[in-house]
Amino acid sequence: MKKTAAVTSEPHKSPAKAPTARTAVSSAKPPVKPKTAAERQARITAILKILDQMYPDVTCALNHSNAWELLVATILSAQCTDKRVNEVTPGLFRKYPTIRDFASASQDEMAQDIRSTGFFNNKAKSVIGAARKILSDFGGEVPQDIDKLLTVPGAARKTANVVLGSGFGIASGIVVDTHVQRIANRLDLTKEADPKKIEQDLMKIIPKDKWILFSHQIIHLGRGPCVARKPKCRECNLNTTLCYAKDKTV
Ligand code: SF4
Repeated sequence: MKKTAAVTSEPHKSPAKAPTARTAVSSAKPPVKPKTAAERQARITAILKILDQMYPDVTCALNHSNAWELLVATILSAQCTDKRVNEVTPGLFRKYPTIRDFASASQDEMAQDIRSTGFFNNKAKSVIGAARKILSDFGGEVPQDIDKLLTVPGAARKTANVVLGSGFGIASGIVVDTHVQRIANRLDLTKEADPKKIEQDLMKIIPKDKWILFSHQIIHLGRGPCVARKPKCRECNLNTTLCYAKDKTV
């Protein structure tokens, strides 16, 4: 596997420049909520098309060179920026080059190694536990099956989807992080607040061959214009009748 950007979402190239408000916004038309199943599907298709234009080639932003490193990086990324994780992991993977090295590590020492990512005691426990589980139950290979992966310490559903999607190219589900949680609601793709229910809703309406890319695109949208407070809708190509979020800033 190539050393490359990993999980969350990083474009290989700059996203397509957002059109100006004049060209992007159908400001003359009021927001239109789809009424029929056909209208709802057409709207989703239109949203996906715009996301493809905005973020044609985004991938995960956590640096990794194999699925194990991606799993470790994803565990460390909880409540931490990808940038900080990418600062910590090179030294970590030099110090513990194999899963066996992680499995036999001292938890206290590893906690200090990853201290700057926050929640370091729990994360060290999860990473070491994950290494031991993968060695004991899966022959030292990160399992490529979501049910098996979910038995690994530290690999809840979001992490498992990241590892399977970005580590193996397997569309096991849709990564629902804080950005996807917020934007799926803004775009009226769900009315749920619980990440598991949001994921189920999204999996019903997003074509499976789009699951991996869609997660990255929405995460990138959330780090770009569609921020939590005061979204910058003038910079967003979805700023058309497709988006009728209550907190649009136009
Ligand atoms: S709320 Fe604004 S920034 Fe977010 S998707 Fe809608 S138009 Fe784009």
